[in-house]
Amino acid sequence: MTQLALVIDLNVCVGCHACVTSCKQWNTSGSAGPLVDEQAYGRDPSGTFFNRVMSFEVGEFPATQTVHFPKSCLHCEDPPCVPVCPTGASYKRAEDGIVLVDYDKCIGCKYCAWACPYGVRELDEKRQVMTKCTLCVDRITDEALPERERKPACVLACPTNARLFGDIHDPGSVVSVAIRESAGYALMPEWGTHPANHYLPRRRTERHIHADELERADNPLKVDGLLPKPAKSEPSLDDVMSW
Ligand code: SF4
Ligand code: SF4
Ligand code: SF4
Repeated sequence: MTQLALVIDLNVCVGCHACVTSCKQWNTSGSAGPLVDEQAYGRDPSGTFFNRVMSFEVGEFPATQTVHFPKSCLHCEDPPCVPVCPTGASYKRAEDGIVLVDYDKCIGCKYCAWACPYGVRELDEKRQVMTKCTLCVDRITDEALPERERKPACVLACPTNARLFGDIHDPGSVVSVAIRESAGYALMPEWGTHPANHYLPRRRTERHIHADELERADNPLKVDGLLPKPAKSEPSLDDVMSW
């Protein structure tokens, strides 16, 4: 069975939020899962996001690192959000493994949000339906688009190519190769949900800085003395440039 997924390389993600804004833009104007905004430009703005980037500082000062961690629905192979749904609105597609919500069947009971251990489902307060990442199902299956554009909006927007997309069950796919060769891992495997999305871990870069490299170079203006100041009677730039 095909299992489409995202693989996110934490080593090159710079936390620019291009994936967040492109997801919002595509899904606000697209048809798969419109994203609401309440008072977007007013007081107390709120809204729905399918994808969020969390940034953490890890380690002990001064040896700290900033880790940017994009998170959206992981399209679990055994998704607990599906069997808890009392109306069958939450479902997993047999043909490609994408987990979706049928908005016509959703009654906004939030059982799926309670069941999801990753906190990725967001209730559309206005329509009272549950929403989440659709893997851009309306883009990736749109045969009117050129083939190279049949990818999730976030994958196309990422400036560092931190986001890969493909079938994790195909051993030759770009995502399978990345998982295999870069020790890709699934989030919280102890929950037994078998997330399809994977993360590529940060690689540590050892830097050795010698004490003399930390000395600040002298300000050359102080070394050479102050720049000469022309007398007020001397011509200014205006005098020589204007006619
Ligand atoms: Fe990270 Fe790419 Fe998203 Fe920017 S667009 S936050 S680099 S995953
Ligand atoms: Fe369901 Fe959560 Fe898994 Fe997505 S990440 S398939 S919402 S359990
Ligand atoms: Fe958003 Fe599509 Fe990326 Fe999912 S795959 S996070 S819906 S842009």
